[in-house]
Amino acid sequence: MTQPASLRALEHHDGFLERHIGPNEAEIAHMLRTVGYDSLDALTDAIVPGSIRSQNPLSLPEPISEVEALAKIRAVAAKNKVYRSFIGQGYYGTHTPNVILRNILENPAWYTAYTPYQAEISQGRMEALINFQTMVADLTGMEIANASLLDEATAAAEAMTLAKRSAKSKSNVFFVSDGVHPQTLEVLRTRAEPLGIELVVGDDAQAAATDAFGILLQYPTTFGGIRDYRTLAEAVHARGGLVAVATDLLALTLIAAPGEWGADIVVGNSQRFGVPFGFGGPHAAFMACRDAFKRSMPGRLIGVSVDAEGKPAYRLTLQTREQHIRREKATSNICTAQVLLAVMASMYAVYHGPEGLTRIARRVHRLAAILATALRKAGMAVDEGFFDTLHVTGVDANAIHDRALEAGINLRPLDGRSIALSLDETTTRDDVVAIARAFGVDIDDVDALDAETADALPQGLLRTSKFLAHPVFNTHHSEHELLRYMRMLADKDLALDRTMIPLGSCTMKLNATAEMIPVTWPEFANIHPLAPAEQAEGYRQLITELEQMLVECTGYDAVSLQPNSGAQGEYAGLLAIRAYHRARGEGHRDICLIPESAHGTNPASAQMCGMQVVVTKCDANGNVDVGDIRAKAEKYGDRLAAIMMTYPSTHGVFEEDVVEICEIVHRHGGQVYTDGANMNALVGVAKPGKWGSDVSHLNLHKTFCIPHGGGGPGVGPCAVKSHLAPFLPGALGCNGVRTEGVGNGEVGMVSAASFGSASILPISWMYITMMGAEGLRRATQVALLNANYIARRLAPHYPTLYSGRNDLVAHECILDLRPIKDATGISAEDVAKRLIDFGFHAPTLSFPVAGTLMVEPTESESLHELDRFIDAMIQIREEIRAVEDGRLDREDNPLKNAPHTATQVTASEWTRGYPRELAAFPLATLRQHKYWPPVARVDNVYGDKNVFCSCVPIEAFAGEPEAFSEPNVM
Ligand SMILES: *Cc1c(COP(=O)(O)O)cnc(C)c1O
Repeated sequence: MTQPASLRALEHHDGFLERHIGPNEAEIAHMLRTVGYDSLDALTDAIVPGSIRSQNPLSLPEPISEVEALAKIRAVAAKNKVYRSFIGQGYYGTHTPNVILRNILENPAWYTAYTPYQAEISQGRMEALINFQTMVADLTGMEIANASLLDEATAAAEAMTLAKRSAKSKSNVFFVSDGVHPQTLEVLRTRAEPLGIELVVGDDAQAAATDAFGILLQYPTTFGGIRDYRTLAEAVHARGGLVAVATDLLALTLIAAPGEWGADIVVGNSQRFGVPFGFGGPHAAFMACRDAFKRSMPGRLIGVSVDAEGKPAYRLTLQTREQHIRREKATSNICTAQVLLAVMASMYAVYHGPEGLTRIARRVHRLAAILATALRKAGMAVDEGFFDTLHVTGVDANAIHDRALEAGINLRPLDGRSIALSLDETTTRDDVVAIARAFGVDIDDVDALDAETADALPQGLLRTSKFLAHPVFNTHHSEHELLRYMRMLADKDLALDRTMIPLGSCTMKLNATAEMIPVTWPEFANIHPLAPAEQAEGYRQLITELEQMLVECTGYDAVSLQPNSGAQGEYAGLLAIRAYHRARGEGHRDICLIPESAHGTNPASAQMCGMQVVVTKCDANGNVDVGDIRAKAEKYGDRLAAIMMTYPSTHGVFEEDVVEICEIVHRHGGQVYTDGANMNALVGVAKPGKWGSDVSHLNLHKTFCIPHGGGGPGVGPCAVKSHLAPFLPGALGCNGVRTEGVGNGEVGMVSAASFGSASILPISWMYITMMGAEGLRRATQVALLNANYIARRLAPHYPTLYSGRNDLVAHECILDLRPIKDATGISAEDVAKRLIDFGFHAPTLSFPVAGTLMVEPTESESLHELDRFIDAMIQIREEIRAVEDGRLDREDNPLKNAPHTATQVTASEWTRGYPRELAAFPLATLRQHKYWPPVARVDNVYGDKNVFCSCVPIEAFAGEPEAFSEPNVM
């Protein structure tokens, strides 16, 4: 009798690991043979320098299956208590329309997309973002808006620096109104100090009397008041200052837009447009401004250009990846923003339309006014002139707060004698009755109160102007219409649900469904960030466990999960370094060495910390030049604050000298910052905290499986050695009171919420829990293998620019197309665009080296998908050879004309010098499965010269209806 397979062996195949990692055992063996090694361990040893390799496996719990992990995290979630939260302070209850919940937030077509660098395959999400920009510009009454910022507080900080850059006033003071949310003030303090900006906080009278380059107002204020700022705005302008306003989009459907009374810059959070609390994030903040400032606006801006056929087409405009060009002179370090959440908010507006939004706002206001009447009748004082937030004074706030808590309700006690509360879209009549009861007031008849209650909006500030008049906000109001609109947009785009996205440095790995599922559970989604700690014990456990996991993976001692992007993590890490030097009486250290190959966010972040960037060279092999680092460390001596380096380098190489570099920098009193964006080459193999680095940020939205959402959300934890732990960002609790975080209060908050984008942390927790130590190490090893397999297979066609030990690359490889360009005129961009005809998203174009493509396949891509990509690249090389030897014209060829739309190849007339078949179906396999780009190549120059950043008037498409409504042929 043959021995049956053991239970353990059978169970092994239930594991998540096999689903996360693309190639199976046999494929791995085949690929190892191609690369020339007989085991993953042998390959790893050949790539990773012995001096940094970990000796021991990660100390993590045994991996568990998807089913078990979901059960486990369910138990963690159950420890959160979902109360009715009327705390307000920038976060409000909202109903996510179910059609948006399922078809955007829970839909990989939207959440697995990348930032729209490749315009032709990103038209759908860019249309949604144009809708967002139009929505924000309309409601705020401003001329132009960007495609989201990280949160309201950081948006306010960006408004401050935009004002500094743009105001005529030479004052160094930024005035902050006392009506601003506490977390906004906290982040402004953090951001102002390193730049030498003086913050002055006060009331409106003080504002009018202060000479400032800018002023920040909140409208309505954090306590709900709607103040008339017209005279104040005039006074600020008269002195050459700029007026920034933090506002609430829902309120703006009823009250005069800031743009109508003198605002120059308007910021806020679109959270209450259908995005749950999520214990603080992610949500999409926004910034709108006057047209005059558009060229120095931070963040991403989607604009309208034309494609090669002259039809309207969207693209990232103006400051596209501006950090990579302007570096330390960039207007901000924002790279990842909050695209997915901006898309949700825009769809909320598309769904409800101007009338629907106004109705929601009216209803919220009515409920608030009714509650105010009830409280006043009982003798309580409620401030006049509000939208949804009541400020009740002269009460026993503690007793009311306690009674509310007993009824499962959160309010916002301000001090012993006053309390604030904000109603929202989810508020019911029963809620109003229950809140009143907490105040000791019985409401018997809501309708009777309604009848005797006037509106409480200030008469002089009512909204009279129209908004959201564009047809897109007035047609998709039935569920079918919206469903099909969202599907039509998604079909235009390439995300991970259709193809590998081999973007080097971006780590587009699997975002597994099991990892995503907990995100929308009410126990994670519906917790207000300032809810009392007892209600968030599940979150506390999740956060603590995830911090420990990341400490184990990196070799550092402490982690802050507050930064909500990688670049914010850089900022937090550099602030920690800065505070550390100051605490030791070495505050004069201000030089930050950054190799020229660094990601553009590095110099941008250093500049925001008041550091001076000194660029160090790379040698001919692409390695950082140790001699140059040594020379510069010596030259700057006791001014040296830090070095910022990426490891393995952005050139895709494990440099041998990293330990020596750490020693050099430490010897001169500097600190070592390792940009952890490339941790996918390290987890389970080597730990930066153990080879001498002091601090890193991680990109949970790269290495730890949080999806990119089309350009956000992200989580950029800052991980530090123990000596820097006291300098991690602080935290704010309920009521604006500083709470105990890891930090000691030296450094303030860098994000609006204490735990940043908390509601997406379950994704990384699930990933690590299901992978375990062995799984994480194997993922890294296969990521190395996949990259080397591609480099090896493509070597006869495209040289890899840099390699490291044993001629191997790390987890990504840079294909050098510059010789091809010189010989044939075919550029890396032409190849990127031609890949679209094959249904692929291009690799990273021209970063970190101009004229190259950087390919990062990740461990999640199967051999089948790698080969499909390789076949496409080889076919493209054949086409280039045809150009080389004259079989194809140098201009009129499928590369220069790529991508080809269905309209072009099916047109009655075809005038190209090559067959239609070659244009559309360059490989036979494409006949079974073809992606048709919705637009031809987008004209970048036209878009930057003719900046247009809101919804395209329908007339622009007249005569060409197919340009924007053409479904894909699947
Ligand atoms: C992605 C990346 C960053 C920036 O991360 P964001 O989350 O986009 O801010 C920084 N450095 C490197 C090397 C990166 O690849």
